[in-house]
Amino acid sequence: MEEVIALLKESGAMLEGHFLLSSGRHTNRYFQCAKLLQYPDRAAAALRGVADRLHADIQAGKLAVDAIVGPAIGGIIVAYELGRQLGLPAFFTERDDTGFMTLRRGFEVTPGQRILIAEDVVTTAKSSGESAGALESLGAQVVALACIVDRRAEGVTTPWPLYPAVTVDAVNWEAADCELCKKGIPAVKPGSRKF
Ligand SMILES: [Zn+2]
Repeated sequence: MEEVIALLKESGAMLEGHFLLSSGRHTNRYFQCAKLLQYPDRAAAALRGVADRLHADIQAGKLAVDAIVGPAIGGIIVAYELGRQLGLPAFFTERDDTGFMTLRRGFEVTPGQRILIAEDVVTTAKSSGESAGALESLGAQVVALACIVDRRAEGVTTPWPLYPAVTVDAVNWEAADCELCKKGIPAVKPGSRKF
């Protein structure tokens, strides 16, 4: 866990301040995992613990996985790297022109195929849920969720066992309840300027 935090920090992938999330909520920590994943060696190191835990559970018969699916864009490299370490195929879902999460590019799942969903960051597991819906409508079965950063607020659960590389305490608020707004600190939309 501490090694993963160090990798995130040295990659500039973990920012502290006052941020506006795409969900509209405000937070004190923002993760841009792409900054870590741009280094293949760091991607491998950050996900080794997750791959090891998945491998152990697969060996113990607690989990069975046929393929790994990452919701685009954040999940693509995470899925690929876990697939590389576990010897499993990895592909991705993406949004169509109407914003609906779907399988494209000729990717296919088969009825009963057991899918591990891979994400960079899990906050509400919303995009994982949308991917799961798309895959399950095609007959596949989502069996687990893996991620680099688990930053769920207290009480937010996922419908599947979660395998995070690191779990961080990142507070997030509805805009109206934001403690940092109350202190008059301006919120920054990540990606809208250089850090
Ligand atoms: Zn705020």
